[in-house]
This record gives sequence, C-alpha cells and structure tokens, in this order.
Amino acid sequence: MRRVNLSTELLQSSNLDIPFKAGLMCTNNFDKSNDFEKNKFLLNMVNEKHYSVIEHLSYSFVVRNISRALLQELARHRLVSLSVLSTRWALKKITKDIEVHYPVYVPATVQQTKILNELDAISEKLFNLIGEAAASGMPNDILKYYIQESLCTSLVLTVNARELIHIFELRTSKRALKEFRILCHSLFNSLPEDHKFLFEKFLEKDLS
Ligand SMILES: Cc1cc2nc3c(=O)[nH]c(=O)nc-3n(C[C@H](O)[C@H](O)[C@H](O)COP(=O)(O)OP(=O)(O)OC[C@H]3O[C@@H](n4cnc5c(N)ncnc54)[C@H](O)[C@@H]3O)c2cc1C
Repeated sequence: MRRVNLSTELLQSSNLDIPFKAGLMCTNNFDKSNDFEKNKFLLNMVNEKHYSVIEHLSYSFVVRNISRALLQELARHRLVSLSVLSTRWALKKITKDIEVHYPVYVPATVQQTKILNELDAISEKLFNLIGEAAASGMPNDILKYYIQESLCTSLVLTVNARELIHIFELRTSKRALKEFRILCHSLFNSLPEDHKFLFEKFLEKDLS
C-alpha cells in the first residue's frame, strides 16, 4: 500500500477571445474588440455576475490520485464532466499497486496514536486481502464493495469557468474537505497563467 498525493495537469483550455466575443455580443460591440481591453472587460463581466459569458470558457484537466472520498464530493457538482478510472474494470491492476490517500493527522493522545496505528494496519490488511481475492479470480463486482474511500482514482475533468469559480468558492473554504481544498489549489495552479486573474479572488489562499 502506497500513500500518494494528487496531481493535476491541464489538457486543454479555450481561448479568452471566446468569452470576450460573447461579452461583446451582449453589449452590441461584437466587431469592436479593439475598443476594449480584454482582461479588464472580462473581469468587469465577472464582477457584475454576468456569468453566462464565462460559460464559453472551458478547461479539461487530468486529475491523478484523488481518494474516492473526494471523488464522491467532486461528483456532486452537477455541471462538471467526469470520466473516471473504473474500479470494475481496473480492480485487478489497482490491487497490485494499491495507492491510497489518508489526510495527515497528528494524534492528540497516546490512545489516539494506538487507534490510528491499528486502523492503518487493518486498512493495509483489507487491501492486501482484496488483492489476493482479485488474483484468485473473485469477480470485481463483488470485491468493489469492500474497497475503502481512501483508494485513489484518476479522471479527466472538464469544467467551464463559471462552475470552476463556484467550486473554488465552496471548496477552498476552511469548512470544506482538506483534500478538496488541495485539489482546488492544484487546479488553479494548472490554469494558463494569463487566465488566473479571473479566478484569483474566489480562491481562499490559506490552506492551513
Ligand atoms: C462545506 C460543505 C458541506 C456539505 N455537506 C453536505 C452534506 O452533509 N450532505 C450532502 O448531501 N451534501 C453536502 N454538501 C454538498 C452540497 O450540498 C452540494 O451538493 C455541492 O456542494 C454541489 O454544489 P451546488 O449544488 O451548489 O452546485 P453544482 O451542482 O456545482 O451546480 C452549480 C449551480 O447550479 C445550480 N443548480 C444545479 N443544479 C440545480 C438544481 N437541481 N436546482 C437548482 N439549481 C441548480 C445552483 O445554482 C448550483 O449552485 C456539502 C458541501 C459543502 C461545501
């Protein structure tokens, strides 16, 4: 069992000219793009909550090694498109090289240290048994029910800028799951440098 950290990589993004043109259309300036400073214009649109304009701006990311706990929270965002590594099809391979994510937790007492060590040992044993069962030919559709939320998965995520702002607002807050907060920061860092200005103010910077 190997503890891993998530990573993200940008696969594609649309050009800022597309939401710019969309905004110009709304204001009857479609053929007058030279009269406006693009970034300032787009930022104004966002500040005025004229959000349909930035729905024309979309991103596709590869997201690697997120826990299934985070996957189920990410999947609650109904306006994202997700294509996720299937445990049904990939269980045999997954259980040969088990990658998990557990958040860092510093036990507060001796009793908690003992409990945490036991949980880690049980968890390791469970994954090893699932691996053995998969190797013995037990069906994936049976074993799938025994896996834990710590098991990591990977996916391709496509999301438009409006929804990405919404996700950053909700999921970088201190109330959100830490792994989700880390994912948001990683997605932000993967954005094209010249797009970051649109998202900056929606990201809670402090990750502590
Ligand atoms: C701190 C925190 C704690 C949470 N705890 C729980 C919990 O205990 N239990 C639980 O079940 N969930 C929980 N959630 C998940 C939460 O309820 C939402 O399901 C999730 O954050 C997706 O957000 P959303 O619905 O705003 O947006 P998305 O699905 O991302 O949709 C974006 C926006 O589109 C609009 N929209 C989309 N679908 C509809 C619709 N059907 N009707 C009307 N408008 C729509 C809304 O304006 C919505 O904000 C929690 C979320 C957070 C951040």
